[in-house]
Amino acid sequence: MRQAMPTASPSRVKRHVAVAAALLIGIPGVAVSLTGPAAAQPLESHCGNETGNKSVQGFISHEELRRSLQQIEQSSNGHVSVDVAGYSNQGREIWSARVGEGDTVVMVQSQIHGNEMHGTAALLDALRTLGNNSKRSEEIRKAVTIVAVPKLNPDGGELVTRQNARSWSDVVADFPQLASARTAWNYNTRLGGFDVNRDFNPNLDYVPQAGDFPGNSASTGWYITPEAQAARDVYRALEQEFGTVHVFADLHNQAACYTGVGMDDFTTLSISGRFITNPAQHGNWPKFNYDASRRVNVAVYDALQSGNSPQSKVTLYPQNTNLPGTALGSFALRGSATILFETRGQTQSWGQKQHGMLTKQVEDGLFGIIDSITDGTLNNIDPERYELIPERMNVPRS
Ligand SMILES: [Zn+2]
Repeated sequence: MRQAMPTASPSRVKRHVAVAAALLIGIPGVAVSLTGPAAAQPLESHCGNETGNKSVQGFISHEELRRSLQQIEQSSNGHVSVDVAGYSNQGREIWSARVGEGDTVVMVQSQIHGNEMHGTAALLDALRTLGNNSKRSEEIRKAVTIVAVPKLNPDGGELVTRQNARSWSDVVADFPQLASARTAWNYNTRLGGFDVNRDFNPNLDYVPQAGDFPGNSASTGWYITPEAQAARDVYRALEQEFGTVHVFADLHNQAACYTGVGMDDFTTLSISGRFITNPAQHGNWPKFNYDASRRVNVAVYDALQSGNSPQSKVTLYPQNTNLPGTALGSFALRGSATILFETRGQTQSWGQKQHGMLTKQVEDGLFGIIDSITDGTLNNIDPERYELIPERMNVPRS
């Protein structure tokens, strides 16, 4: 059964009918337009889990990232500075880029999962804008400090895997006290790598102990991967500088074919500020501020509502998520307003389809946060509006 169709504008209904008719009579070339930014995709249509073997071309490689960051830094008139925040398990640089001098700090990271690539492209575009000489960028730089960590997991990026490229024996070599420990639950023995986004702990000084392994999704992580350590080190330095890391955003991708409650289309982005069911389970974290997270999510949602644009197809990621070992969960406990971006489609299942639109959507969403800090409206947002964002759901099959 389908959900009842929400009210749709006449032009939108017409477009659905036209596309459906074209599919029925098989006009060559028309199906291509389904993936373009302008066309809506009826839920009855074939969503498509194939990429035409172009899954990675067009995404940003580690070397391209190096060149782009150098170029952005050089052309920014000193506004953007790029540093090496750490090194991946295979020795690739993990860069951070900083722009702005404002008292409010926003940390954004991308590609902690190597096969989730739109966030990295969006961060480069955002850095180019933030470093330019426009009046708007100048105002932002006065109000906000933005620190981006594009491609936190460069090894996974090159291998096009979710995991990093670290073995359990690499971990034991670095932490000999774990020789007798059971292998961490987030280690993929088949592929040989960790889900880095389960390696975080709200205690930034946590030292791994054998008794804490193998752990599970409802408990905290350990900082046993160099990628999580790099993110922690950037976060800790900002916390020491600003007192609190005010906003932390983590840019991901999800499966391509979800919809939302009451939607007649596929969702292009799911967002969330909820990663911790009960903060008291993890110790005393008095700065945990769920309403601040909800406000940041609403700021992003509002920025992406623009008529029938595909960018308006934003949904709320499942809210029964309890993942204290994620970067979002751990940093939320420390008091950051947190937001997860789950952009449509992972590299193997979606490739570059809708690449430009999806990248722009992430960038526009980030500017929803940055602009609302700059003009002072973020704190006036009613956090309860978060509950009105349509929930993500599977496409109903009749
Ligand atoms: Zn992810």
